[in-house]
Amino acid sequence: MTRYDILIVGAGHAGAQAAIALRQNKYEGSIAIVGDEPEIPYERPPLSKDFLAGEKPFERILIRPAAFWAEREIAMLTGRRVVAVDPAAHRVTTTDGETFGYGTLVWAAGGSPRSLICSGHDLAGVHAIRTRADVERLKGELAATSRVVVIGGGYIGLEAAAVLTKLGKQVTVLEALDRVLARVAGEPLSRFYEAEHRAHGVDVRLDATVECIAERDGRATGVRLADGEVLPCEMVIVGIGIVPAVAPLLRAGAEGGNGVKVDAQCRTSLSDIFAIGDCALHANPFAEGAEIRLESVQNANDMANAVAKTLTGMPTDYHAVPWFWSNQYDLRLQTVGLSMGHDATVTRGDPASRSFSLVYLKQGRVIALDCVNAVRDYVQGRTLVVERKSPHPAQLADPAVVLKEL
Ligand SMILES: Cc1cc2nc3c(=O)[nH]c(=O)nc-3n(C[C@H](O)[C@H](O)[C@H](O)COP(=O)(O)OP(=O)(O)OC[C@H]3O[C@@H](n4cnc5c(N)ncnc54)[C@H](O)[C@@H]3O)c2cc1C
Repeated sequence: MTRYDILIVGAGHAGAQAAIALRQNKYEGSIAIVGDEPEIPYERPPLSKDFLAGEKPFERILIRPAAFWAEREIAMLTGRRVVAVDPAAHRVTTTDGETFGYGTLVWAAGGSPRSLICSGHDLAGVHAIRTRADVERLKGELAATSRVVVIGGGYIGLEAAAVLTKLGKQVTVLEALDRVLARVAGEPLSRFYEAEHRAHGVDVRLDATVECIAERDGRATGVRLADGEVLPCEMVIVGIGIVPAVAPLLRAGAEGGNGVKVDAQCRTSLSDIFAIGDCALHANPFAEGAEIRLESVQNANDMANAVAKTLTGMPTDYHAVPWFWSNQYDLRLQTVGLSMGHDATVTRGDPASRSFSLVYLKQGRVIALDCVNAVRDYVQGRTLVVERKSPHPAQLADPAVVLKEL
């Protein structure tokens, strides 16, 4: 059995950054990353953006070139899935029965796409967008596709809709709630994106309940709605969130449920096991200490950096400012802070100009901003979020008032 001083499970954003930061902090012990995908770590955001659009080759979305890992003596154990963790023996087992010992385990396994539970969910032509393989499969079917139904009006579904529309496909977006982006954004932002997609020819259906996927010869031919309407299509894309990949850890006794619970330093309840990234359920100071999981590159990288510091003798709590971005058409959305629990919003600038910000307030204090084509607000608004400032809403609403002066 090979043993590594630090074994990282998951060759995604968090796992890669943990290894990078450990070496940057002069960690000299042995490090390996076990990942179930065949590839070395690559960036996931382009999968629903320029990589899907065919504007970026795979090599350009690698987090680091292959030589980088070899030069730093970070072993890449790709194509292996960890199925069991033995915390007492400090050992993991992979699907093919191989075992690896560890001094410290860093669990960075992200999540897998939530799938539909209705009939037809597993037909050919039904796709998720989480891995390179997902997108290659989907791209391989595009030539024979003219109509696409996207199930889920979250960021990934909307980004895919924007790309596929640009590629000339006829796209329908089905959202179960009464507005797109309902779980992550305030109503003015939802309505803005809904209108943008409609203006680009996307058929956005709200309050839509999917009954099943219609089929012929094992292939999806349409999506049937609860009211009986069938939307014919050659391709279905499902973007309804992820299920955190934590089953082996929970089976080993770690506390958790919707993710694995971690403390301020990303330690799980099992000794010598940390968890970071999409799968880490943590008390976030920007959510007033509520236990949440964040699904963003920022969270993955900053948790990884915090753990790398702790493991190199600089115990560090994770309390980075959350930020996120989304590209749709020529719109660049940048968000800072967490808008959950807001009790008021202020729209700054005119959405019709396609450059504006939505400021989220809770009891008069700024907790988050969503900035559309408004980089300056995004950069300057950060301080308002960090310091929980309470400027007058009229000032916030006036684009002539520079945020950094508030
Ligand atoms: C299409 C798409 C677009 C996105 N766009 C944005 C964006 O614009 N901005 C943004 O901030 N964030 C975006 N995100 C979210 C961001 O990519 C994730 O938050 C980030 O990848 C999380 O990093 P992670 O390391 O926790 O998980 P991942 O990057 O998912 O890496 C986890 C890895 O672990 C592997 N794994 C799982 N279980 C096991 C196991 N048992 N054994 C071995 N390996 C395992 C997985 O296959 C995967 O390779 C996007 C995500 C997707 C899918």
